[in-house]
Amino acid sequence: MTDHCNSNSLISINEALKNIYHTLSGIAGEETVNLHTALDRVLAENCFAPFDLPAFPNSSMDGYAFNSADIQTSGFDLIQSGTSWAGRPFDGEISPGQCVRIFTGAVMPKGADSVIMQEQLKVSDKVIHFPDNTQAQQNVRYIGEDVRQQDCLLAAPKQLTAVDLGLLASAGLYELRVKRKIRIAFFSTGDELRAIGKPLAEGQIYDSNRYLLTALLTDPCYEVTDLGVMIDDKAQIRQCLLAAAVNHDVIISTGGASVGDADYIKEILDEIGQVNFWKLAIKPGKPLAFGRIQQCYFFGLPGNPVSVLATYQQIVTPALRQLTGLTNSTPLRFKALCKSQLFKQAGRQEFQRGIVSQTASGEFEVISSGKQGSNILSASSRANCYIVLPREQGNVEIGEQVLVEPFSLFL
Ligand code: AMP
Ligand code: MG
Repeated sequence: MTDHCNSNSLISINEALKNIYHTLSGIAGEETVNLHTALDRVLAENCFAPFDLPAFPNSSMDGYAFNSADIQTSGFDLIQSGTSWAGRPFDGEISPGQCVRIFTGAVMPKGADSVIMQEQLKVSDKVIHFPDNTQAQQNVRYIGEDVRQQDCLLAAPKQLTAVDLGLLASAGLYELRVKRKIRIAFFSTGDELRAIGKPLAEGQIYDSNRYLLTALLTDPCYEVTDLGVMIDDKAQIRQCLLAAAVNHDVIISTGGASVGDADYIKEILDEIGQVNFWKLAIKPGKPLAFGRIQQCYFFGLPGNPVSVLATYQQIVTPALRQLTGLTNSTPLRFKALCKSQLFKQAGRQEFQRGIVSQTASGEFEVISSGKQGSNILSASSRANCYIVLPREQGNVEIGEQVLVEPFSLFL
């Protein structure tokens, strides 16, 4: 862990992440889950195909199966000798001059190598009229064309998607080994914080961060403990951190990490752990603490809710992914035409909140979602993206290109 706390310099997200990645080691431990509970979990072992997929040659169309040796240059007739249903194969064999009615997914009858779509045929009772230019070897799905027996179906580590679960099911695999959940505890700090439902005295506010973090931490890979609110009391915070460190992999706190008189986190952590206090070159979200209390990692996030959001998404998320063994944490960003003037001073990378849209011709455009203060949740709630502005960038004029990072795949 490199200590940047004595230097007054601001460090970039990349420097912070490099340090964090260097310090973190993946959480050991696996468990067995089944397809009903595996979505989004991280695969711990490679999965291999126990048999070929498809396991038998079958039709990709509703139509007629026939042997291409019967094809003639102009139209011709074949006699239907049976039917092959999905799950109920035709048990005979096609002889020259014969064909078999077949449905999608049904086994190809012995002697047949081609299927023609029913829409291309004229049928009079059992006599099937094939058109000119009938093609050989069409509309057949071959054994193993998807996956061969013993092929690696899924390589660990991989976060399991809906498609992955469908793939595993097609191979008859129901139980799989995944990384165990990361145990995460979090708490808010601040004498001004009140529980929702209690009246607010002057100067008091409700604890937004608790619910913001509860939602951000909702993930099948995490087992989360909400430790509630700590008042700005050194002994209480110290005791809480020491107790939580025993049975959690990660503790996250919000507030109390800057330099105000009541900001005790630094003092406590200097006593009970090894923690860096960084001034990040990002806005929102300048102060950030990262380190260890015994075997438990600690992230001290800023107090302002929009700073919590940005530091959680930009720093904590990739770190937690690394703990579960995942390394692909680069956020999706793309260029958009900026339709608002944006105010910015050079010096810190900014994550301004914006609203991105797509024109009829497919171009992306973005406007500011409103006031950019790190306490202003309403503009973040209206936003659907970050406008990511590089460190040395100044103001942005209307018509300039900017990078945006969408919050979700739906605009
Ligand atoms: P601090 O880092 O403790 O000095 O807090 C910075 C700002 O964030 C102050 O305005 C706090 O009142 C506010 N803040 C801290 N924690 C929370 C919280 N849990 N919910 C809402 N605002 C908070
Ligand atoms: Mg505070």
